[in-house]
Amino acid sequence: MANQHQAIRGMHDILPADIPAWHQLEETYRGLIESYGYREIRTPIVEKTALFARSIGEVTDIVEKEMYSFDDRNGDSLSLRPENTASVVRACLQAGLLQDQQQRLWYYGPMFRHERPQKGRYRQFYQFGAEAFGFAGADIEAELILIAARFWRQLGLEDIELQLNSLGSSECRRRYREHLVEYFRDHHDALDEDGRRRLETNPLRILDSKNPELQALIGAAPALGDSLDDESRAHFAELCEILDRAGLAYVVNQRLVRGLDYYSHTVFEWVTDTLGAQGTVCGGGRYDGLIEQLGGKPNHAAGFSMGCERLVAMLIDQGKARPARGCDVYLAMRGAGSAAAAARLAESIRDRMPRLELVVHAGGGSFKSQMRKADRSGARVALILGEAELEAGTVGLKPLREDTPQREIAQSEITATLDNLLQQV
Ligand code: ATP
Ligand code: MG
Repeated sequence: MANQHQAIRGMHDILPADIPAWHQLEETYRGLIESYGYREIRTPIVEKTALFARSIGEVTDIVEKEMYSFDDRNGDSLSLRPENTASVVRACLQAGLLQDQQQRLWYYGPMFRHERPQKGRYRQFYQFGAEAFGFAGADIEAELILIAARFWRQLGLEDIELQLNSLGSSECRRRYREHLVEYFRDHHDALDEDGRRRLETNPLRILDSKNPELQALIGAAPALGDSLDDESRAHFAELCEILDRAGLAYVVNQRLVRGLDYYSHTVFEWVTDTLGAQGTVCGGGRYDGLIEQLGGKPNHAAGFSMGCERLVAMLIDQGKARPARGCDVYLAMRGAGSAAAAARLAESIRDRMPRLELVVHAGGGSFKSQMRKADRSGARVALILGEAELEAGTVGLKPLREDTPQREIAQSEITATLDNLLQQV
């Protein structure tokens, strides 16, 4: 019978076989980001739609066509979060965490965007992120970038290039926008439909277009760098100097603008060509205007977010994913009363070896089928509790991955023996 129920298009299950790679990513990220003094924050998955419209921008792709929005029973318009920065700022303002203090924060969780699903692009996807509030200097952008670089190193991932650009102050951006509109107006006929629409609403986004037919036009557009004022140049130069001194390679990409509206000064992306079309694994930068836009006192902000599905794909493709772990020990049994004795023995082993992965056979069945399950479980050792063992206060021990006969061990010796055996590999 065909499956009656399917997951929603673009939303996928993460099955047990892939979980070790996810755990590897999550544990590595948490350990790393906390070691830089960042603290986790968790916000609701649903917020008022107005929060995202206000922060991301009414005329961005995300707000115009990618949000999962709905009216709840009170008639409020709510949305599944398409990203987490707005929520984190909202939470900090609400809890007073930005009053005369700096914050280094991180998050992890699912985001939702109604995009066209394809490899590396889903409608529910996970992001890691970091946000730093209250830091004016380029040293914080450098720190965020160095964190990402160290993350790739710790994961063993290769071929991820850092691209940097500066959008300058909001004043520079405004000036640049004028040049750009003028340029694209002169080439109106060469624009695609999206481009024409953006020309009126959000012309910088034209630079972000993935349409191959626009690339030549975009390539010849005025460069942002020419519109930067001295202060913006100095900020960017400081960032580059810190990265140079840290020995971190980067490429300045003058076309890099990022999709969201709230960026100023630094923008960066980590890009790989090993994943096909969806090659950006991390994007971030400075967004000093956002906190005020959401009703707070003007304050500095910088951060990044990473696409976890793309990183898991890289881990697997580059052979760096942690293999699935089998269990350590499988406890099989036979004879009357053996299930109760097995549970008791297993619990006493767990008391003394809490990290041991010990599977107790359940559901009866022949001894032969139990041993088949023991073998399939990946266990290195089977413990066997039969009538003879019950009588003698012993347990049978059979190594499963080597050709050694079963031996009998006093139950009081079992943890010492297991300790010994399992450490040998
Ligand atoms: P893209 O250019 O790939 O659409 P974006 O600029 O929309 O990315 P951000 O909003 O900056 O992406 O999100 C940060 C990261 O989250 C991206 O670099 C990417 O790795 C990941 N990401 C974004 N959208 C998706 C998606 N629909 N599916 C999977 N990962 C995604
Ligand atoms: Mg996008």
